[in-house]
Amino acid sequence: MHTPAQILKTKFGYESFRFNQEEIIQTILQKHDAFVLMPTGGGKSLCYQIPALIFDGLTVVISPLIALMKDQVDALRLNGIKAAYMNSSLDNEELSDIYDQLKRQDIKLLYVSPERLLGNNQQFLVFLRSLNISLFAIDEAHCISSWGHDFRPEYRLLSSLKKQFPEVPTIALTATADQLTRDDILNKLQLKKPQIFTSSFNRPNIHYSVEPKRKMYEQIVAYLKKHRDESGIIYVLSRNSADKMADKLKADGFAAKPYHAGLNADKRQKHQEMFIKDQIKIIVATIAFGMGINKSNVRFVIHGDLPKNIESYYQETGRAGRDGLKSEAILFYSGGDVMKLKRFAAVENNPEQTRIMLHKLSQMATLCEANACRRRAILNYFDELAPEQCGNCDVCLTTREKFDATVIAQKALSAVARLESRFGLTYVVDFLRGSKNQKISEYHKSLKTYGIGKDISKEDWFRYFKDLISFDYLKQVGSEYPILTLTEKSRDVLLGKEKIFLVKIADKKEKEAVKAKAKKVTLGDLPYEEKLFSKLKIIRTELARKENVPAYLIFSDATLLELATYLPQTLEEVRKISGFGDIKLARYGKIFLKAILDYSSERKLSSKIHEKVPKR
Ligand code: ADP
Ligand code: ZN
Repeated sequence: MHTPAQILKTKFGYESFRFNQEEIIQTILQKHDAFVLMPTGGGKSLCYQIPALIFDGLTVVISPLIALMKDQVDALRLNGIKAAYMNSSLDNEELSDIYDQLKRQDIKLLYVSPERLLGNNQQFLVFLRSLNISLFAIDEAHCISSWGHDFRPEYRLLSSLKKQFPEVPTIALTATADQLTRDDILNKLQLKKPQIFTSSFNRPNIHYSVEPKRKMYEQIVAYLKKHRDESGIIYVLSRNSADKMADKLKADGFAAKPYHAGLNADKRQKHQEMFIKDQIKIIVATIAFGMGINKSNVRFVIHGDLPKNIESYYQETGRAGRDGLKSEAILFYSGGDVMKLKRFAAVENNPEQTRIMLHKLSQMATLCEANACRRRAILNYFDELAPEQCGNCDVCLTTREKFDATVIAQKALSAVARLESRFGLTYVVDFLRGSKNQKISEYHKSLKTYGIGKDISKEDWFRYFKDLISFDYLKQVGSEYPILTLTEKSRDVLLGKEKIFLVKIADKKEKEAVKAKAKKVTLGDLPYEEKLFSKLKIIRTELARKENVPAYLIFSDATLLELATYLPQTLEEVRKISGFGDIKLARYGKIFLKAILDYSSERKLSSKIHEKVPKR
């Protein structure tokens, strides 16, 4: 019998386990139940696929979407693992074929939908009882919770699974982070003393940035021009803007298609497939797009409009960089978007729900506006601690020169004090700038503080206020029309006991420089052969076409990048590249090796495989 580590190498071609994969696998092998929270791209699948290969019997995987099942099964088959799926897309002949294989114990992993497993008077369960079931794996387990962002009523059927098969270990997996949903999942699934495994939700390879929403289309085009052969998603708020932007991009020479709930099912399916198979590089979509997208080489996610909360932002940006390579999340922000979304946030006849939605929206807005690490803001939102600086977001990477802003802060705080903490940000700023606006009351116009902030532009004042808020010198209370109030920290500033340093408003040039630095996909800081990388991608596309699977299932970008970095010169060296299990090495090793040998001999390059240190 093989150990998990051996299977990891021989079947999947990977050197070492990630996160707590190994402990999870051990728990399952001891036939305990497990509940796994791991971010997207973390490697949840291996947690049940490896036990499935070690156990004698069949592993049944419950998965919500046909597209996901097919993807997983294709991926397994390419590694020479016997897997199948059963869903409504199969005809009777295909189904009976799978039944036969199951009876012959010729399948190790079977993917099914919850309806197939438990619906229809549980006929299928009766059949399963005649087989030897080793493990149930419930993928996307958050679908069982109506608190989650993707509730699926049919998942509720799974509540009875544990009762029916108390002796079979069950593993439930999800990338959904919030506590409410987690508790609900555990409660609904009735797992038996499950071991709970949580990983950090940090996605270190994603670079987050927020740009002011001005000339957005031009900025997007400039970005796309620099990233011609990369795939990405552009999220927008409405169907109409998705159509429009996709058309415009097409007219400007980019392979883009729209995706939203207004398109008919055929079209949606087709556009999705073109994207997955790299026939188009860009999908312009509403939030309807994404669930079930396993494509690992999504290099960027752009938000043209503001997401309505941090959960959505995290989920959507999380579709970038599943392969672990550097990826970009770029958001275009404007205060106008916040106003627009506020109107959508109102839930009719439900003030409580409305309040929650507005609060979540304002947290999203603060993430964009504050001069604080974006990653930290995301992780803190999910109750996870994080260092002050992540080193991989626009805030952390811009040299932020600070200056003594004590006087500015005093002006701001005294304005709030003079207005008796009863007004919102815009009013306070107008007041400070001595606006002639009629909204400012005559009484306020007569105060000494009125107009003391004339020398600073409205825009800059907003920035300073946001910073003062994020550093707790001021507070916004109320969600619909939040008003500014003082905090415990305000007093010392007003009394001149504390000096305040704020970030200088960065000029544009500086920002551009940051961008240039943050780009380029590499393995750590090692250089790679760009031309070779492109060639290898072409070979991969060709193989994918022949096998009729998406290219990323043949090899991830990470594997090709390793090849183009370490330049293996023999098959034994190719084996050391992450992603080459025995079967893929036998099937595709030679083709890739030949391309590398040709390239290297032309340029007199030699192997750098000794520089590859196994990751731990
Ligand atoms: P998730 O389901 O958690 O989003 P997947 O299971 O799809 O993630 O894994 C994401 C990618 O990482 C896949 O390409 C997978 O093969 C790869 N992967 C998983 N575990 C490892 C590992 N230990 N070493 C290298 N690559 C891994
Ligand atoms: Zn940061």
